[in-house]
Amino acid sequence: MDEKTYKLYSDFGISNKVIHFGNEILDTLKERFTKIDDIAEYNQLKVIHAMQECKVSEACLLGTTGYGYNDLGRDTLESVYAKVFHTEDALVRPQITCGTHALALALLSNLRPGDELLSPAGKPYDTLEEVIGIRPSKGSLKEYGISYRQVDLLDDGSFDYDAIRKAVNEKTKLVTIQRSKGYQTRPTFSVDSIGELIAFIKKIKPDVICMVDNCYGEFVEMTEPSDVGADMVVGSLIKNPGGGLAPIGGYIAGKKECVENASYRLTSPGLGKEVGASLGVTASFYQGLFLAPTVTANALKGAIFAANIYEKLGFPVVPNATEERHDIIQAVTFGKPEGVIAFCKGIQAAASVDSHVSPEPWDMPGYDSQVIMAAGAFVSGSSIELSADGPIKPPYAVYFQGGLTWPHAKLGILKSLQSLIDSGFIKIW
Ligand SMILES: *Cc1c(COP(=O)(O)O)cnc(C)c1O
Repeated sequence: MDEKTYKLYSDFGISNKVIHFGNEILDTLKERFTKIDDIAEYNQLKVIHAMQECKVSEACLLGTTGYGYNDLGRDTLESVYAKVFHTEDALVRPQITCGTHALALALLSNLRPGDELLSPAGKPYDTLEEVIGIRPSKGSLKEYGISYRQVDLLDDGSFDYDAIRKAVNEKTKLVTIQRSKGYQTRPTFSVDSIGELIAFIKKIKPDVICMVDNCYGEFVEMTEPSDVGADMVVGSLIKNPGGGLAPIGGYIAGKKECVENASYRLTSPGLGKEVGASLGVTASFYQGLFLAPTVTANALKGAIFAANIYEKLGFPVVPNATEERHDIIQAVTFGKPEGVIAFCKGIQAAASVDSHVSPEPWDMPGYDSQVIMAAGAFVSGSSIELSADGPIKPPYAVYFQGGLTWPHAKLGILKSLQSLIDSGFIKIW
């Protein structure tokens, strides 16, 4: 490493020992990083190819106002997404406010009273509990007479195929599968294993709609769930596919009928995809998608680096240091609140925005314990940017993700380690 780089790391308050330790770990990761670059290369070509096939032009980068009729940029972008995900159609809009909204939209528009929703892979993401009505909520699926059934994973984290076979019935209309573990301890599902699950379900009931919550999974592998039978893939643009540039938005890519249903719910019956001005965000959606494969690769390198650093220091990490990756999230268990807090303070101190503030645990609405969050982001709440958060409750684990560039992810992880050392939580050097 160049001496000038050393000097800058020490200006950031990182000791020579921490830098050396980081570089030693890094030396063992060359092969894995090359594999990640190979996947990014494929996905980059896939995105550019889609843009060329759809004849993206300079005029597409402009926005519309008002009703947004004939918005060339918006309509072409939706074709690009459909090409990238190999689906019939896509809805990609700034009017979809976040990932939860995109998922709620896909569910509420494709289910009708009397239908049943099945989750064959355990409890869905926290915020979906209110969408479904697992926790009572205004406007939930339950309020509209749509029932819900869940099959939990087996103890080893695999699908309970026997129970799934029994759960599928004449009312089952839609199956929701969450690719990423989110804030659970189960493993994230590979695209291949999602494909097997979908094939199993379609064999029992061919006309059932299979939806995949694709949050944090886009561009991590060379295939997407829509390549292995998913009728809809759904996600947030302030995660992987927005490439850090999209300032808002969500997407639903899938079968024409599913996307059409979603469009009539997002805007209005009769209007559907025809309206919805793109305002000034179109260029950032295009450029963000263009950058997304390499940005995702950078975040993945950060996750693997963190896993190797903290596993070496004796902390439980999920996924572990050598496991194959299916999303960009890394969990590290510290066992004590002080570890979670020091880690998050280190991540915050590495930010380019708001590095001078110090995160503190607080009573966040919707959570049953205090939560600490480190996020110094250009786009508020963006978790494709370097960020970490942890609930202050056992097992005192922190969830780390993002990093638009690999050097920034590296800085964040070294800062987190230095913070753990400075606070006295880790006593090695
Ligand atoms: C982030 C996330 C969501 C919800 O997205 P928001 O944009 O936070 O509403 C849903 N599912 C998974 C797996 C996620 O990671």
